[in-house]
Amino acid sequence: MKMKKISLFIMLCILGIFLVACGNTSEEGTDEKEKQEKTTEGDTTEESNTDGWVENITVLTGSEAGVYFPLGVAMAEIISEHVDGVTATGISSGASVVNANELSDGQAEFALVQNDIAFYAHEGSQMFEEVVDGFSGAFTIYPETIQIVTLADSSIETVKDLVGKRVAVGDVGSGTEANANQILAAHDITYDDINEEWMDFGDASTNLQDGNIDAAFVTAGTPTGSIQELAASADIKIVSINEDKIDQIIDEYPLLHQSRIR
Ligand code: GLU
Repeated sequence: MKMKKISLFIMLCILGIFLVACGNTSEEGTDEKEKQEKTTEGDTTEESNTDGWVENITVLTGSEAGVYFPLGVAMAEIISEHVDGVTATGISSGASVVNANELSDGQAEFALVQNDIAFYAHEGSQMFEEVVDGFSGAFTIYPETIQIVTLADSSIETVKDLVGKRVAVGDVGSGTEANANQILAAHDITYDDINEEWMDFGDASTNLQDGNIDAAFVTAGTPTGSIQELAASADIKIVSINEDKIDQIIDEYPLLHQSRIR
């Protein structure tokens, strides 16, 4: 069973950005923040010497089934291999929103964050109650696409059809959830109208396949491994967003733009 061959899904797209912390070092995380971290690959607490040289670098990524995680882990490996006296570790997290906050709190030196979320953090708007500072953009990496995935035989054809359905809206603290909210809101849908489930991409794929959820939002680089894996064992389809709604959403969130995936 292969992914249903429908071309030209009209989707929204943003850029993934690699952020670097500036000037925030050596603070250990609070219990609350530590709970949000999902892996404990070694001790990631920073150690800096008196010159401010950080020997242990933490790179915040996303869930293990996403694109950020393998990318961030690979970046950490390259840093460890090529920078003398420095060990870098890529750790999984709830992704963009959590990453921006934790980077600013000095709990990491690098983080992968969607550029829309980085902008809101910088402005202290949307999901950020105040300006989140102490970081700057290092470079942009690749476009990420907001995808709404469902099984091919599902009755869900448009965003409006999500009403009354069990919908995975991303992980807690993810950029995915922020985008899910924006797209739902543009269709006058709130969490009161759906059964929202917070879960990462891996859990969303499994639950979609098992029939525990009806659809999942995924904001990630395409092709997205977890969706490809799901497509290898189940017929799936990607729900398009209508062009008029796309215009409306882009008007409101100018960092998004239209994209077509095949
Ligand atoms: N862009 C996603 C988010 O911030 C994470 C994507 C990934 O893990 O590859 O929610």
